[in-house]
Amino acid sequence: MAKQKSRAEYNKKWRAEHPDKCKQYHKTYYDNNKEKCNASSRLYREEHKDELNKNHREVYWPEYYKNNKGKIYEYQKGYHEEHKEESVEYQHQWYLDNREEVLKRNKQHNIDKADEISKQKSNRNQGWRVEVLTHYGNGKLACVKCGFSDIRGLSLDHIDGKGSIERERIGDRGVNLYGYLKNHGYPEWYQTLCMNCQNIKKIENKEQPRVHDAPSLPVSYLINRITVLTHYGNEKCSCVKCGFSDIRALSIDHINGDGANHRKEVRSSNLYRWLIQNNYPEGFQTLCMNCQSIKRYENNEHNDKTKSKNGKTLN
Ligand SMILES: [Zn+2]
Ligand SMILES: [Zn+2]
Repeated sequence: MAKQKSRAEYNKKWRAEHPDKCKQYHKTYYDNNKEKCNASSRLYREEHKDELNKNHREVYWPEYYKNNKGKIYEYQKGYHEEHKEESVEYQHQWYLDNREEVLKRNKQHNIDKADEISKQKSNRNQGWRVEVLTHYGNGKLACVKCGFSDIRGLSLDHIDGKGSIERERIGDRGVNLYGYLKNHGYPEWYQTLCMNCQNIKKIENKEQPRVHDAPSLPVSYLINRITVLTHYGNEKCSCVKCGFSDIRALSIDHINGDGANHRKEVRSSNLYRWLIQNNYPEGFQTLCMNCQSIKRYENNEHNDKTKSKNGKTLN
């Protein structure tokens, strides 16, 4: 027993001291007994398949991947480059074979990560918005006419008619305008304006003739408008939030945001008369366009297309 042990220890020691000789011995043995060696390896692998696979998958591969990330990535990239057509073809075929599975997985991914995805998207859009509005604000995030600088009240204005054509084209395809402008070298025909200045500009250009082209409107309408805006402006014809007093950008705001429903009952051109006839009901206030826009942001109504569409302000 003692002799056996000392012999094993001697061998072990000898092997440690002569690694090259050992290697050479193994190589020679393998060369002379290839088939036998291979068969025995194969048998071993067959017999321990599950165990080996598990070990490979759970221990060897993650460790190898962790230590060789760059190398693996480079290899995959190189392989993809070299076999581009094959690779694309393979991926496409794989997609076709697994289409339903992939769609199901993507759908589930979008559901699981909905909050995260929409947050990412809105962060990205917000970033574009800041960048683009600053560009068209001549390097400042502010209205080029009056200097108003709360981004919630700023938007892009088409300097001439061309912009609206462009916008329609982009809008129809559902592309984000800010992203589009950024990626198309900032075409010239935009400027950053606040909502108040945009409204004033529209009136000056007679783009809102129905409500604002004075000659076509009865004087009584204009008198009603001033009277009502003054009443709901706490006896001043100005915005109750910021004091802005150019009547061209003032309008009546539904304090609880139920404007759309109310407008179904009362046509906008009749609102002022209706308010007077109903003895100035509560729930209304005079706001400028900028403060209305800020309010929509605060109430999270800004991304709700149906709301903003129906929520056209009354002038
Ligand atoms: Zn302005
Ligand atoms: Zn205001």
